[in-house]
Amino acid sequence: MKVSVIGASGRVGKTAAFCLAEENCVNDLVLISRKESIDKVEGEALDMYDALAAKDVNVKITASYDFEDVKGSDLIVLSAGQPRSAGMTRMDVAIPNAKIVAEYSRAIAKFAPDAIILVVTNPVDVMTYVALKASGFDKNKVFGLGNHLDSLRLKNLISQHFNIHVSEIHTRVMGEHGENMVPIMSSTSIGGILLKYFKGYDDFDMDRTVEKVKNAGNYVIQKKGATEYGPAFAISNIATIVLNDEKKILTVSAFLDGEIEGVKDVCLGVPVKLGISGIERIIPIIMTERERTAFLKAAEVVKKDTDFVVKAIDEDISSK
Ligand code: NAP
Repeated sequence: MKVSVIGASGRVGKTAAFCLAEENCVNDLVLISRKESIDKVEGEALDMYDALAAKDVNVKITASYDFEDVKGSDLIVLSAGQPRSAGMTRMDVAIPNAKIVAEYSRAIAKFAPDAIILVVTNPVDVMTYVALKASGFDKNKVFGLGNHLDSLRLKNLISQHFNIHVSEIHTRVMGEHGENMVPIMSSTSIGGILLKYFKGYDDFDMDRTVEKVKNAGNYVIQKKGATEYGPAFAISNIATIVLNDEKKILTVSAFLDGEIEGVKDVCLGVPVKLGISGIERIIPIIMTERERTAFLKAAEVVKKDTDFVVKAIDEDISSK
C-alpha cells in the first residue's frame, strides 16, 4: 500500500506519517513538502528510518517536492495549510487554506486519480468540500478528519470521570469540527451500558464536558503551540481502517446527500462504514430532539461557511 502525506514538513503531517509507518500496513510512504522545506522532510525521513529499524518495520520512505512521486498512491493525507494560533477560530484560516487545498486536490486528481483523499487542513468540513469539488472525485473517496478526534477527546473525559478503561467507552461526536459539534450522549455507552444507567452518571457534568471537548484543541495550542499526537493517531486510525479494509464505523467529515436528517450539499461529521473503497455507507443515527436540532444548526453554519469560501475561491476550484 502506498500513502502520500502532503504537508509533511508540518507538525501534524510528519507525526501522522510516523504513526502510519509504524502501523505495518504501508510499504511505500511519500512525504511531500514545498521545495523550500525539503531539507526538513529529508531529515524527518532519515530519523523515521532509524526509529523503524528499532521496531523491525520495513517501509520505503521518499521525501519529495515533486508531485510525480504521489503517482499510484492508495491514500493521500492532505494536511498542508496554515494552522490557527491560540484564540483564532478555524474559519480565520479558511480562505488561504482553501486555495492550498484546491491546488493540491487538482494535482492529486492529475497524478493519483485512484487515490482516496483524507483531508486534515482546517476548517476541515469546508476543506473537505473544497477537495471534493476541486478533485472531481466520487464522494466516497474524499473525507475529512475532525469529529473522530473530537470523539477521542470525549472518550478520554468520560473514561476519566467514571474511572473505566478508555476502550470501554463508546461515544460519538458529529456535526462540525468546531463550535457546532454535537456529542451524541444519548447513545454513549460504557461496556455496552447506556451512560444514563451507569453508576456515577448523576455527578457527570455533561455540559461542562462538552465545553471541554469544544475547547480541547485550543487549550493544547495555548499550552504547546499546536496539536500533534491526537490528530496524528486519529489520522492513523482512519488510514489503517481503510487500507486494511476493516469495515469499521468511524465519524468522518463526509459529503451528505440527504442520508441524515435530509441534509444536503455540505460535508459534516457523520458515522460511516470505512473500507478499501473509502466511505462504503453513511450510517443513519437516531438522535434526541436536542441533538437533532444541534446537528441541523451545524449543517446550516457549515453550509453557510462553505458557500462563502467556495464563492471566494471559485476560480481555484473550477479551473481544472
Ligand atoms: P504546521 O506545522 O504549520 O504545518 C503546515 C504545513 O502546511 C507545512 O507542511 C507547510 O509547509 C504547509 N504549508 C503552509 N502554507 C503552505 C502553502 N501556502 N502552500 C503549500 N504548503 C503550505 O501546521 P500543522 O500543525 O501541521 O497543521 C496543519 C493543518 O492541519 C492546519 O490547517 C491545522 O489547522 C490542521 N489540523 C487539523 C486537525 C483536524 O482534526 N482536522 C487537527 C490538527 C491540525 P512549509 O513547511 O513549507 O511551510
